[in-house]
Amino acid sequence: MAYELAPLPYDYAALEPFMDAETVKIHHDKHHQTYTKNLNDLLANNPELAAKPIDDLLRNLAQVPEAIRTGVRNQGGGYANHTIYWTLMGPVGSDGIGGAPIGPIAAQITADFGDFEAFKKTFNETAAKQFGSGWGWLVFEAGKLKIISTLNQDTPLSQGLYPILLNDVWEHAYYLKYQNRRPDFLAAWWNLVNWHEVNRRFAIAKG
Ligand code: MN
Repeated sequence: MAYELAPLPYDYAALEPFMDAETVKIHHDKHHQTYTKNLNDLLANNPELAAKPIDDLLRNLAQVPEAIRTGVRNQGGGYANHTIYWTLMGPVGSDGIGGAPIGPIAAQITADFGDFEAFKKTFNETAAKQFGSGWGWLVFEAGKLKIISTLNQDTPLSQGLYPILLNDVWEHAYYLKYQNRRPDFLAAWWNLVNWHEVNRRFAIAKG
């Protein structure tokens, strides 16, 4: 059984003008597709591992044979992170997409960060400072929201944490439209966040 690339849940142009259609197309159809293929190739001789849900695989990388562990960490992380990423954005102008948070996550953000602006500032600064390629994340630990970043395709799942929200700060995520201006991309990206999906993940993170 192989991991599958889920279709993009909206049109390539649905995230315009904040994320351009060409970036979305290359990011999903080429980058995400390549992580998917490489992960399947790595596990071609390990059907038991390949049958595991991707989150289980990444939660316990020690179960992966050492010869392919780094590969699975990178390619499996790339597969999983992008799968979450597409669902955490939505068509501009739709209900619950962009703007201020709604639902339980809104109250938790206020409780833990003071207000949405302070939360965004911390998230954007953390993601902007990630040196090189990586991700910014929102997780829930010891009863509080926490913002972290990871290098390459590493996922908080491998640290025992469940991702609630994430943003991709690899240059392929923004370079065509924003070039070297990572902070501009980070600021604009909040117009795309799918707060329904953030709330669904927040409920799982709380357990
Ligand atoms: Mn990416």
